[in-house]
Amino acid sequence: MDMEKKIAETIKKYKLIKKKDKVVVALSGGKDSTSVLYILNKLGYNVEGLMIDLYLGEWSEIHKRNMKKFCDGIGVPLMIVDLKKELGQGICFIKAVLKQKKGLTGCSVCGTVKRWILNKWARKLKGDVLVTGHNLDDETQNVLMNFLKGNVILGANSSPATGGEINKDSNGNHGKFVQRVKPLFFVPEGEIRKYAEAKKFEIMYERCPCAFGTYRVDTRAWMDSLGLTDGAKKKIVENFQKIIPKLKKQQNRELVICEGCGEPSTGKICNACKIFECL
Ligand code: SF4
Ligand SMILES: [Zn+2]
Repeated sequence: MDMEKKIAETIKKYKLIKKKDKVVVALSGGKDSTSVLYILNKLGYNVEGLMIDLYLGEWSEIHKRNMKKFCDGIGVPLMIVDLKKELGQGICFIKAVLKQKKGLTGCSVCGTVKRWILNKWARKLKGDVLVTGHNLDDETQNVLMNFLKGNVILGANSSPATGGEINKDSNGNHGKFVQRVKPLFFVPEGEIRKYAEAKKFEIMYERCPCAFGTYRVDTRAWMDSLGLTDGAKKKIVENFQKIIPKLKKQQNRELVICEGCGEPSTGKICNACKIFECL
């Protein structure tokens, strides 16, 4: 089955997006998010790109340039959120401070900041859903990584759709936590790469310059060394989906509103605010 059909099928099976939805696509500038934006637009959804300028030097500049051109070319609006305007600093400084003050390394700080900004801005853009470009390889890595950490329960929210469940108004619209959906959930990374190359998207394929020395990078290398087929990855992810309802029960996560920023949180103060307190 070709990739466009696969995506349409995942959307239908998991009821990820409705035809009348405003669809905000989180764009990194890489092959995954660019491809999913392109396909959703082609399928006739009302899409808008949302990108964060992380201030990762030339890497960010090239991605921004590419995405402006790309979105312009297909007539899709693009919002670029400036991290320095939002938080007063670029991501390298934020990561360095958190490493020094809390010993936090890897992508966790950046990931938390990005999720916080994307949710806030998806809501500002009146998005019904926030699409991310996570693919089958990312999801397989999540399952294996959590298993290796001895904390399988961390995967309780690894589904094609998460969020959306807090503070809906009486009409059921626009909760604080915008519904996050992953139409590429069952599409292998290699297939997306082939698609992007065949379409000759003007994008950069290099990974983020900060993505080194992390548990995810090590897990990816280990996973690659196992030579798992795409079929095996799909089996791992599909089988994991079967135990998610059980994990959710055990996790017993209740979302509340953060007392610091008013965003959704699992505790009184959200993880993003804990980062902001250090800056
Ligand atoms: S790879 Fe890590 S540091 Fe780079 S953008 Fe992603 S989360 Fe941030
Ligand atoms: Zn907060």
